Amino acid sequence: MSVQFTILGSGSGGNCAYLETAEVRLLIDAGFSGRQIRNKLAALSRAPEGLSGVLITHEHSDHISGLVGLASRLNLPIYCNRQTREAIESQLRIKINGQIFETGHSFEIGDVQVDTFSIPHDAIDPVGFLLRTPAGRIGFLTDLGHATKLIIERVRSSNVLVLETNHDVQMLQDDPKRPWSLKQRILSRHGHLSNEAGADVAEQIASPDLRHIYLGHLSRDCNKPELAHRAVAGRMQKIGATHIGVEVTSQDSPCSTFHLSTLPRPGPIPDVLSETFGQTATNIPPAPSVATPAVLGQQTLF
Ligand SMILES: [Zn+2]
Ligand SMILES: [Zn+2]
Repeated sequence: MSVQFTILGSGSGGNCAYLETAEVRLLIDAGFSGRQIRNKLAALSRAPEGLSGVLITHEHSDHISGLVGLASRLNLPIYCNRQTREAIESQLRIKINGQIFETGHSFEIGDVQVDTFSIPHDAIDPVGFLLRTPAGRIGFLTDLGHATKLIIERVRSSNVLVLETNHDVQMLQDDPKRPWSLKQRILSRHGHLSNEAGADVAEQIASPDLRHIYLGHLSRDCNKPELAHRAVAGRMQKIGATHIGVEVTSQDSPCSTFHLSTLPRPGPIPDVLSETFGQTATNIPPAPSVATPAVLGQQTLF
């Protein structure tokens, strides 16, 4: 069975992704109402009752609001660090079935190893994830003001990367609705990544093994999908990393499902890319999952 990954929705108004392997069915964040999450899962012929648990990055409402309707009623295991659990329970006034991890440590849920690492964001103890599945690795990097070298290292081996491109700096500065203090918060080193900052991160993480980047957490008012796409896809083009698919996520509808078992094997790498990555075509490591040539890069809704 392949490993399937679907972003059910992402943006400043709500974030939730779904990962399915042979052994587990996980949500990563639950930032929509319980009813919305049920509907989004139903579009994949899945239901909250079949979930193995929910991984939580941090306690902001656009990442946890669905826990009221889902987790407490179904008693789903909620994987988070201690301070985040306390924040969730006091904010939502519920008791959750907290499965506590220590930030920076790794743990296993069935056949998925979860690496956790600290990210700079204005929450109590926010984390990013690297999910190591039997078919490949998925990096989660949203809600961070800037990416440190350590963070880049933690997700460098990703085959699929969820990367924040929150705002266009000019659109944010020109926005008449947001007070100056809020703009400062978003732009700060504990705020959110802009399109350009996201492109910088993508450039540092780009490798022959990285196959797909989902651009996430776009601001509705201060960004446009085409601007985010142009910034990151343009940068990938510039460095010769055209094997990396770049896809903008949507707040309202799920993205196409990525099947990690169909990750294409790295083909011959153009000279420019070999230089970029400091490798030659002969010493590129094989992709962690072997693709069937007939279904290379296939992405379908299941
Ligand atoms: Zn958020
Ligand atoms: Zn946040």
